[in-house]
Amino acid sequence: VTEKSYSHAVVIGGSIAGLLAARALADHFAEVTILERDCFPAIGQNRKGVPQGHHTHALLSSGQQALEHFFPGLTAELAVQGAVVADPLLAARRYLGGYYHCQFESGLQGLYLSRPLLEGQVRRRVLALPNVRAMENCDVVGLVASEDQQRITGIRLLHRSGDGAEKTLKAELAIDASGRGSRSPQWLTALGYDKPTEERVHIGMGYVSRYYRRNPDPQGTALVSISAPPQTRMGVLAAQEGERWIVSLAGYLGDYAPTDPDAFLEFARTLPAPDIYAIIKDAEPLSDPVPARFPANTRRRYEQLKHFPEGYLVLGDAICSFNPVYGQGMTVAALEAQVLHELLQQGQHRLAQRFFRRASTLVDNPWDIAVGGDLRIAGVVGKRSPLQRLMARYLDRLHRAAQHDPKVVMAFGKVVGLRAPSKSLLQPSLVWRVLVTNRQSPPAPRPTIDSMPKEAS
Ligand SMILES: Cc1cc2nc3c(=O)[nH]c(=O)nc-3n(C[C@H](O)[C@H](O)[C@H](O)COP(=O)(O)OP(=O)(O)OC[C@H]3O[C@@H](n4cnc5c(N)ncnc54)[C@H](O)[C@@H]3O)c2cc1C
Repeated sequence: VTEKSYSHAVVIGGSIAGLLAARALADHFAEVTILERDCFPAIGQNRKGVPQGHHTHALLSSGQQALEHFFPGLTAELAVQGAVVADPLLAARRYLGGYYHCQFESGLQGLYLSRPLLEGQVRRRVLALPNVRAMENCDVVGLVASEDQQRITGIRLLHRSGDGAEKTLKAELAIDASGRGSRSPQWLTALGYDKPTEERVHIGMGYVSRYYRRNPDPQGTALVSISAPPQTRMGVLAAQEGERWIVSLAGYLGDYAPTDPDAFLEFARTLPAPDIYAIIKDAEPLSDPVPARFPANTRRRYEQLKHFPEGYLVLGDAICSFNPVYGQGMTVAALEAQVLHELLQQGQHRLAQRFFRRASTLVDNPWDIAVGGDLRIAGVVGKRSPLQRLMARYLDRLHRAAQHDPKVVMAFGKVVGLRAPSKSLLQPSLVWRVLVTNRQSPPAPRPTIDSMPKEAS
């Protein structure tokens, strides 16, 4: 066992962000304790604290890279457990902004699997580390601070199966990874600190997901993604382990996808493209439709606080939770955990200030993508800057060019996969390609079920 620089760290929440934070901490702390309110189920099973586990979870390419970096061989292990590994630009049919992106071999590897399988396997790897342990059924209820309140020295917890008495656990560093419902703002104000400013962009989204049997598909499709703002309805269908499709349908601003099976199918029929409807209309359902509501993109600006205690950080959805349709949350959590790992190598001095600054820069791009995309829906309230309006018009043209030009698809894929900043789409060489490609090709007609490839309909 190599010598560690620090003694004990605790992580509040044992979901993706908490597990990845624990993985990063394990290289620097002699002991890491994950405190989780739930009891962990078997790998692949859903649990109460992560209700979003019933819904499609896309893992973006940069997130997959970060996971593989923390857990070498993870992708191969997941494939053995049934996750579908496929070229994301060949096996994915994307109807975006009114056009189908062309499909081609890219040499990239996408991973299609359920959220409970991914989380379960990551948990298995983290808990196999000799210096990491989990305390389940543990509700963290507050923080313990030094007498001068300048440093967090531990947390207060209630053990759900215990005698009801509050206990404390000491830690040199505590990390809140308890998700979007994080109580850090309240815990910090109880110690005399200010709350972080909270930015919210209300989208009033209603999500419904359902599993279907996935019959062998001659086209090798692993993903269908349909979204064409300003239309408020969107859908995604993705291959999952166990020869299944998961289908998630969503609508903005109260145009919720319905849970009634017939109405669910009808909602699929009204999406801007017919591909999902064509696949599921005769497919065997394997589960009931499960709903979720997602009211708003929410970002807490910890980096702007003038005073923040030593020995405490906040990470993952607890900092920022994005409209799920962009599939960013797990990837951002993984990238934040990488930042944490890197910063701890330089010591703990002013860790919170350094971490929140870096995390904020990291969140800027996915936040702009999510909010910029959502502001294309007419009723979504928020400031539409001239640059955003220009970008929206340009994206329409980019999607049109992406019908024909693999380079345009690649450039767009890098941005939505969080491997390149949004502004890379404005590189003159790409703008030129978009303009030239569009001049040479007419816009596509609106797709109908009769215009679908035979095998899929
Ligand atoms: C419908 C939906 C679909 C999504 N789709 C995608 C997607 O396609 N791709 C993607 O990358 N992301 C997606 N996300 C986001 C993704 O689920 C999260 O970003 C990801 O789980 C990381 O969140 P987290 O670990 O910070 O918090 P969470 O996953 O919310 O986990 C918080 C954990 O903390 C525990 N906890 C909470 N309070 C306490 C406490 N006081 N004491 C102890 N434990 C506590 C909870 O039980 C839970 O285990 C989606 C989200 C939703 C809602």
